[in-house]
Amino acid sequence: SFIIFNGDITDRQNAKVDIEDRGYQFGDGIYEVVRIYNGHPFALTAHIERFFESAAKIQMDISYSKEKIESLIYALLDKEGKSTASLYLQYSRGISVRNHVIPKNINGTLVGYLLDGERPVALMENGVSAIIAADTRWLHCDIKSISLLGNILAKSKAVEAGCTEAILHRDQIVTEGSSTNIWIVQDGELITHPANNLILNGITRQQLIMIATQHDMPYTEKSFTVTELLHADEVFLTSTTLEIVPITIIDGKKIGNGKPGAITKELQKLFTLSIEAECGL
Ligand code: PMP
Repeated sequence: SFIIFNGDITDRQNAKVDIEDRGYQFGDGIYEVVRIYNGHPFALTAHIERFFESAAKIQMDISYSKEKIESLIYALLDKEGKSTASLYLQYSRGISVRNHVIPKNINGTLVGYLLDGERPVALMENGVSAIIAADTRWLHCDIKSISLLGNILAKSKAVEAGCTEAILHRDQIVTEGSSTNIWIVQDGELITHPANNLILNGITRQQLIMIATQHDMPYTEKSFTVTELLHADEVFLTSTTLEIVPITIIDGKKIGNGKPGAITKELQKLFTLSIEAECGL
């Protein structure tokens, strides 16, 4: 298989990263995951924008233009010829003798390759269960950092409990999932945490806000508590790879009647239509 590696497409075996790459030693880097439908990247412009925004937030200059990165992605898709997949794109600060201080004038390391994966149809239809866990991460969750220890510990805790996701809270305020944004539906209104430093402003989240706006579905970006979560009419998660998945059981308790909710299902339909419109599924 092939890989985007520092401005070129090469055989994956040829891509080797130095042990003093700061991504490897410090988790000093940022990433994106882009869904590929029907061979086409979905919401690519938004992902590349966020890639550059994440880099800027950690004072990192990406040594390739947005246009260059886009053309590398299309070249990779062309070579791989896959229909459904996820593109993983990462930029780390680059190679420098180990020292916390951010080095000046070094080139970062760009890597991008495809991960296999069909749309999670069964999860979308049946819903999943989740646990509630303390959000022990740092206060820059808006940066799509490759340092993901807090996220992986939470996700693993969920999976150990036989669940799919960990819903995180800070002092009882629900922030987001370990790798997803969390939404509740209450009295017909969609509610999700505001896009501030405590969450990643998901591209799927942004797409859903657009869809809600277009279809006059009431929504609010505001904080809600764990108690409100547990008593919501519907709960669902969003992410690039999972799309929109109902959460039907939290900490062993049913949400509503324990079945995917009507508004969640409506949003799934509208989201699929927007994928079809862009990628021609
Ligand atoms: N929050 C976190 C912590 C994430 O890691 C992700 C993406 N994996 C999301 C939210 C969802 O973002 P997106 O819709 O852009 O995939």
